[in-house]
Amino acid sequence: MRGRNERMSEYIDVSEIFGEDVFNDVVMQQRLPKKVYKDLKQTILEGEELSLEMADVIAHEMKEWAIEKGATHYTHWFQPLTGVTAEKHDSFITAPLPNGKVLMSFSGKELIKGEPDASSFPSGGLRATFEARGYTAWDCTSPAFVRHDAAGATLCIPTAFCSYTGEALDQKTPLLRSMQAINTQALRLIRLFGDTTSKKVTPSVGAEQEYFLVSDEKFRQRKDLVFTGRTLFGAMPPKGQELDDHYLGAIRQKVSAYMKHVNEELWRLGVTSKTQHNEAAPAQHELAPIYAEANVEVDHNQIVMQTLKRVASQHGMKCLLHEKPFAGVNGSGKHNNWSLTTDTGHNLLEPGITPHDNIQFLLVLSCILKAVDEHAALLRESAADVGNDHRLGANEAPPAIISVFLGDQLTDVMNQLITTGMANHSIGMEKLETGVKAIPEFMRDTTDRNRTSPFAFTGNKFEFRMVGSRDSIAPANVVLNTIVAQAFKEVCDVLENAEDFDVAVHDLMKKNFTEHQRIVFNGNGYSKEWVEEAEKRGLPNLSCMVETIETLTSEKTVKLFKEFGVFTKAELESRKEIKYEAYAKAINIEARTMLDIAGKQIIPTVIKYTKQLADSINAVVAAGILEVEVQTDLLSETSALLKETKNALNHLKEVTESAAAMEDGKEKAFYYRQQVIPAMEALRKPVDELEMIVDKEIWPMPSYGDLLFEV
Ligand code: ADP
Ligand code: MG
Repeated sequence: MRGRNERMSEYIDVSEIFGEDVFNDVVMQQRLPKKVYKDLKQTILEGEELSLEMADVIAHEMKEWAIEKGATHYTHWFQPLTGVTAEKHDSFITAPLPNGKVLMSFSGKELIKGEPDASSFPSGGLRATFEARGYTAWDCTSPAFVRHDAAGATLCIPTAFCSYTGEALDQKTPLLRSMQAINTQALRLIRLFGDTTSKKVTPSVGAEQEYFLVSDEKFRQRKDLVFTGRTLFGAMPPKGQELDDHYLGAIRQKVSAYMKHVNEELWRLGVTSKTQHNEAAPAQHELAPIYAEANVEVDHNQIVMQTLKRVASQHGMKCLLHEKPFAGVNGSGKHNNWSLTTDTGHNLLEPGITPHDNIQFLLVLSCILKAVDEHAALLRESAADVGNDHRLGANEAPPAIISVFLGDQLTDVMNQLITTGMANHSIGMEKLETGVKAIPEFMRDTTDRNRTSPFAFTGNKFEFRMVGSRDSIAPANVVLNTIVAQAFKEVCDVLENAEDFDVAVHDLMKKNFTEHQRIVFNGNGYSKEWVEEAEKRGLPNLSCMVETIETLTSEKTVKLFKEFGVFTKAELESRKEIKYEAYAKAINIEARTMLDIAGKQIIPTVIKYTKQLADSINAVVAAGILEVEVQTDLLSETSALLKETKNALNHLKEVTESAAAMEDGKEKAFYYRQQVIPAMEALRKPVDELEMIVDKEIWPMPSYGDLLFEV
């Protein structure tokens, strides 16, 4: 037995390590001259420009701090439209001095502006390749950090990435723009309700991250996982998730050790990793941090994904972030919890305790309903991603139809407002009879849970559950911030000029709730009936990614984003193009991977197996036994499936080649969706049947059972 002290040495002091690799407020306060610190805070809080002299001082201190942490390089860390982050590393060294030595230097200019060659990142026609200029600009609202990995220690500076002419080439720039938009409009709104002290309203976001863990060794034996992140073949194991014995079950030791390691790494990087548990599918888990400001959370979520992957390889495992690594069991998503918080600590989505606040809350709520109803297709688009097509509407994932869950109490208040024009009581509360002004308070715990809703009110925030596990949460938050800013703007325009404020608020709430109540649905979103009901209500049901993309340039969308300076029409066009291309490319890789596996691994294996069967029949017959019915049945069944496989393979090859030859764009993406995907499914079917017949000893890859139950 080990002694207590020995065991204690394995424990870490979380408060000690938390944020130790982050150039955070405490570090800045300690290291920066008072005036510089004050100016930087001003920039962070109010977005004022930072002078180059200031930047020089900050850069110097940042470098000194990073070098103390072992850093040799710095990088502008940015989020191009590839779905992952990008970075180009520069060391701090200067040109050698006459004495042959180098200095370590980092200037303000290097801190605030970088110039990576942008030509290899998707730009969707915004820029010809010869105009390769792209700039990364320091986002000082998200703190720099030092990352330790095999490459040593690197100072990472979160940045936005723009073209020479200022067009956004990344996820960050529109996000920051949308945060400005919601800030402006939300400030107008709270001023109208008497808040004169708050200076800023920020979207708060908490992203719950789901993932799978599989054995690294088995992962490598599956080319589909290696090339595409998901299994393209695979018969269902005898046991799936039907027993519900994995969800919140005891975490296996190996996985616990991994989670501990992940947490420590995240805490050092200032990511508030908080919750961890097993998810619904075997081998599936979840990690949730404590929410942060939207842009910080977008960065943190990228750090979470990278850390989950990096640490897994140190534990002999592979972390799968794909939305649907395995057919037939739960897919992985990312619940994007969203609310609006003032710098004075007030959450606009908190139902509140005074009637006065409640009116503000109800107005905010009515605006959110309006925003989501009017831009349901756009919100749906923000979560569209190739992998998510397999997840939405399947096992335990929200459907592709956007609706809002309000819960009984709020729905009741909404209905009162709609039918009588007054809301004077709340379910489960004492009756308050003081007219409009006295709209009753809502008790949080009366908000029940509805796991099936894509957009659910959960006490003091909305939870948008459509985002895919691998995707950036930025687009969803860009849309949420902007559509709500628009709804706020509309009510503020009226209220700022209203003769009777109370009556005007009341009328606006009533109008919003009445016109947009169709978006509220508290029932079972997984049911077939809902799909029919939603259609009757006229709610869009965009079942796959390609169907959503056109929304990006609809008149309504262009107007919305232009009005709030979030995207220009050209930027939207480019994003549309990038999405169609990304879709076609992803499916093309999947189709070719299937062709490769089926042609080089499956068919040869099955042929070997038929030979074994034939040899066995001959041997048995030669031994004088004529009862070979089982073997001959198996042989003919296998041969028939083999033929089906070969035919399906030929067909898939044909359509994939036709698709690849098409010009990039919408038509090509749709061709992949309509022709290539069915051909892939047609190939998978006989192969999965063969897997159930062919001797496991010779099957060329680990099965679902091997992957899901033997980490
Ligand atoms: P559940 O699984 O019940 O949805 P979790 O605790 O797993 O809850 O995750 C909830 C997430 O929502 C966490 O990231 C949490 O920090 C975040 N969250 C809590 N309150 C707010 C809020 N007001 N605004 C935004 N996010 C919030
Ligand atoms: Mg959760």
